[in-house]
Amino acid sequence: MKKEILLTPGPSQVPPQVAAAGAVPIIHHRTKEFMEVFGRLIEGMKKVYGTQGDAFILGSSGTGAMETCVVNALSPGDRVVIGITGKFGERFSLMCKAWGVEVVELVREWGHIVTPEELTETLSKEKDIKAVFITHSETSTGIMHPIDKLGPIVDEYGALFIVDSVSALGGLEMRMDDWKVDMVASGSQKALMLPPGLSFVGVRGEKAWKAIEASKIPKFYFDLKKYKKSIMKSGDTPFTIPVSLCLSLDESLKMILGEGLESVYARHKKMSAATQAGIKALGLKLFSDHLSYVESVFTVPEGIDGGKLVKVMTDKYGARVSGGQEPYKGKIVRIAHMGYVTHHDVLLAMTSLEMALSEMGFKVELGAGTKAAEEVFLS
Ligand SMILES: *Cc1c(COP(=O)(O)O)cnc(C)c1O
Repeated sequence: MKKEILLTPGPSQVPPQVAAAGAVPIIHHRTKEFMEVFGRLIEGMKKVYGTQGDAFILGSSGTGAMETCVVNALSPGDRVVIGITGKFGERFSLMCKAWGVEVVELVREWGHIVTPEELTETLSKEKDIKAVFITHSETSTGIMHPIDKLGPIVDEYGALFIVDSVSALGGLEMRMDDWKVDMVASGSQKALMLPPGLSFVGVRGEKAWKAIEASKIPKFYFDLKKYKKSIMKSGDTPFTIPVSLCLSLDESLKMILGEGLESVYARHKKMSAATQAGIKALGLKLFSDHLSYVESVFTVPEGIDGGKLVKVMTDKYGARVSGGQEPYKGKIVRIAHMGYVTHHDVLLAMTSLEMALSEMGFKVELGAGTKAAEEVFLS
């Protein structure tokens, strides 16, 4: 018999009650019944985004929300600064270039972040920067950016601040209004505890809407003005929304807001502290000093085949974790703890890691990682 638990940085585990909420006979989306749910979802998402502005729910994966930000805020020929600290920053850059936007790339070595000082330096040097793009939690390397510190800097230079929080929202704190974040893209299958298929865009206020009104990039499906009009007019969406996923979102928001955002964020911090303590206790090295609270990443030790380590943890011990993407394929292992995670998941990750390393010939003291994690939970 095989039993497997998802510990990948998306998709993440879906709570049974969230899955069950969507597994009902479909209801029509242009009904009073659905509109009531949808109104609640918008209000709930605004709380998670920390904004009095707008929250939009779209039918797409997280990349669709990223593209929504790009095509709505910009015009061809605009100049933007993009922090590239891994695969997802790179995606923003490729996307902007595809739409004829001029990109100033702020590239950092994998495992590093764009610091507030570095951003200030770039913005003071570059002229006519329309927007700054940053990845909240860079899933390919496990790092997180101090959005609270970067937002006010971008605002001071008059640029739009656009954040990819696909893997962070619902796990890491986001306060769009307080931190002056103009647009935030998110997805359903990470810390929001849903299957893939919904994406979200938060829009803070006037600065973003002015840019949206002026944008000249062609768009149709992802045109936020259509979504805004539809919400204002009838409280729904211009196109058919994935209704079942919305019913599931209603349940996951109930769980998140019921637990309380502060408590949800504290839980993620705890999961991360326990996982990292366990990793270190096994004599492994964390990949970065800037690891986020939704994912722990370690460097595969010398002499161990990283691809095989992931395979043994997953196939033999039932903890589905992720390896590295190019250029770190086989060199790092990523253990996610986002969304529906408790000590169960961290301890499973630890025992699987200990057993896999041990049978692959890496000297570990069985139970050392688990013990270190338990001590964090008990503290
Ligand atoms: C998962 C992820 C995305 C994109 O997600 P898709 O849903 O696969 O389109 C974008 N950015 C980050 C940081 C992610 O973790």
